[in-house]
Amino acid sequence: MAEHAAGLATEKEARDVAEAARESEWSGPSFVRELFLGRFRLDLIHPHPVKSDPAEQARAAPFFAKLRAFLERVDSDMIDRTGEIPESYVQELRDMGAFGIKIPTEYGGLGLSYASYTRAIAMVTSKDGSLTALLSASQSIGLPQPLKLFGTPEQKQRFFPRLAKGAISAFALTEVDAGSDPANLRTSATLSEDGKHWTLNGEKLWCTNGTRADLLVVMARTPDAIVNGKPRKQITAFIVEAKAPGVEIVHRSRFMGLKAIENGVLRFTNVRVPAENILWGEGKGLKLALITLNTGRLTLPASCAGGGKAMLQVARHWAKERVQWGQPIGKHEAVAQKIALMAANTFAMEAVAELTVGLSERGHYDIRLEAAIAKMWNTETGWKIVDDTLQIRGGRGYETAESLRGRGEAGIPVERAMRDFRINLIFEGTSEVMRLFIAREAVDHHFKTAFALVDKEASRKDKISALGRVMKFYPLWYLARWFGKGDLPVAYSEFGKLGRHLRWAERHTRHLGRTLFHAMARFGPKLERRQMVLFRGVDIGADLFAMTAVCVRARMLAEQGNTEATELADLFCREARQRIRTNFHRFYGKNDSAIYRVSQRVLEGRHAWLEQGIVGIMEEAPVKSVRPAARSEPARQLV
Ligand SMILES: Cc1cc2nc3c(=O)[nH]c(=O)nc-3n(C[C@H](O)[C@H](O)[C@H](O)COP(=O)(O)OP(=O)(O)OC[C@H]3O[C@@H](n4cnc5c(N)ncnc54)[C@H](O)[C@@H]3O)c2cc1C
Repeated sequence: MAEHAAGLATEKEARDVAEAARESEWSGPSFVRELFLGRFRLDLIHPHPVKSDPAEQARAAPFFAKLRAFLERVDSDMIDRTGEIPESYVQELRDMGAFGIKIPTEYGGLGLSYASYTRAIAMVTSKDGSLTALLSASQSIGLPQPLKLFGTPEQKQRFFPRLAKGAISAFALTEVDAGSDPANLRTSATLSEDGKHWTLNGEKLWCTNGTRADLLVVMARTPDAIVNGKPRKQITAFIVEAKAPGVEIVHRSRFMGLKAIENGVLRFTNVRVPAENILWGEGKGLKLALITLNTGRLTLPASCAGGGKAMLQVARHWAKERVQWGQPIGKHEAVAQKIALMAANTFAMEAVAELTVGLSERGHYDIRLEAAIAKMWNTETGWKIVDDTLQIRGGRGYETAESLRGRGEAGIPVERAMRDFRINLIFEGTSEVMRLFIAREAVDHHFKTAFALVDKEASRKDKISALGRVMKFYPLWYLARWFGKGDLPVAYSEFGKLGRHLRWAERHTRHLGRTLFHAMARFGPKLERRQMVLFRGVDIGADLFAMTAVCVRARMLAEQGNTEATELADLFCREARQRIRTNFHRFYGKNDSAIYRVSQRVLEGRHAWLEQGIVGIMEEAPVKSVRPAARSEPARQLV
């Protein structure tokens, strides 16, 4: 049982809050949801949903030309060194409409598709991570996205034109005690007696763009609702003017990378927020945040693919140019292997990102699982690519671009790329929290069908109706998980050489469905705590999704005349199959109990003897609350 630290939500409260904010219904079909149920529904993603749209391309072309020309001029070393994005850059981005890429033209935006938006972000990332953070925090999770999804016509009329002109926005959810666990949110809002405004108090941590924003989306606790006679925590989303009296920037946070990210701690002291600034409705804030993040998560995968391409370009050139031990390093097998896998994985990252965006644009398709996998898988795969690129560049990979240039070499900033990239595995949902989310959604059908049978709190009536559902669903479903299209040697032959990978994926999708079912039968409700087991299931599902995305994309490209892609798709699938086999092989993890036991003993300090002989880097926190801003960065009252 998790410890209940003073004042913090209990494990049950955390789960209840997360569960209440879940989208419990599926708004459309989902390839990945079916996949976890052991059903390989290729028809849901093939033919590839991305259609070439000449009208959109023509509309987007002038913007892309301006963006490219701008990025070619951007001095990223200066941004990295000074930790600031010059106002002239921001203004240039405003002037070309880069803060309103998806905002409809009727409000003054560029009115481009999500696909064009993610393509633009990928291009920006290939040059400068701090600029990506500025544009993406504003448009992927900042006000334009929830406004588009949940804003009233009046709110759209009020805010879209400002945003389209370049008003910068930010999304403020995280607090000191509420990172992955929103149940600990403390920022509060109380309604005035006349019902005309709310008074906001609290402090938000790590709010990207918060130190430069004009408009904020702030998640705050509002009075509890009573559900079944019990109080339930309510979280509400507010649109807050950053210049409103009482909004204060108390600290500019600085990080390992993204040196110029405009991120910090915001304090709200008796901030008056008009009642009409509530987004969607009272108590719907956390759900809004999660839905916003679902779509917002489409940006990071594309951004990672852009970064991966930039790394591949560096590695390819260097591995040909650098000669050691009598030949270019790319001829040595250890480096050659990295190059091949970088290319295959970059192709896969783009396939996953592009497919997920394509599905979201198709409409009537529930992308929450695909988006979560894309976020988790692309950020982790991209990180490996950055790491391999640094290794291939050797000492030059570790040296800063300015130092390289200072001694007469090309200033290739792999060191900066690595610093900038790492955060992708943490923000917008850490890798672990993404796996938890995917696992929860993956077993949702089983949960709805059978959970009442093992739930101690379920009534006799609920148990009987669950038994009925179980008898109706499982016999046929289970039997059908043993036979399928993948058993036929000619299945998916239209994919040519890649058909065999799809047959394998179909068979192993059924295997996954059975395995998850067996795990549920074996552990019952305790499965949710067996993260090591669950996460192997998630990783198998993610690799099966990536394999399928890769085959579908290679097929689409082949139809367009690109036959080279098949080779990359084939290599990617061969490697993914190895990983999947390994995960199935160790699904129940013979060492899991030993690993957990040792971890707890380490935490108890039983192995503190291992830490002898060091000076160490530990430090006591001076005070629990946030310190005033550093002397070089005075606290700034926004009014
Ligand atoms: C540069 C940067 C920019 C950011 N931008 C924004 C922003 O614009 N808006 C905003 O609201 N927030 C923002 N954040 C916050 C970010 O989203 C959080 O850092 C993130 O949600 C994780 O929270 P945490 O750091 O408190 O980690 P914690 O939640 O404390 O987690 C610590 C570790 O424990 C793991 N963990 C936690 N819970 C579980 C669990 N149940 N099971 C298994 N493992 C678990 C996590 O995966 C992680 O590895 C930003 C953060 C940074 C660093």
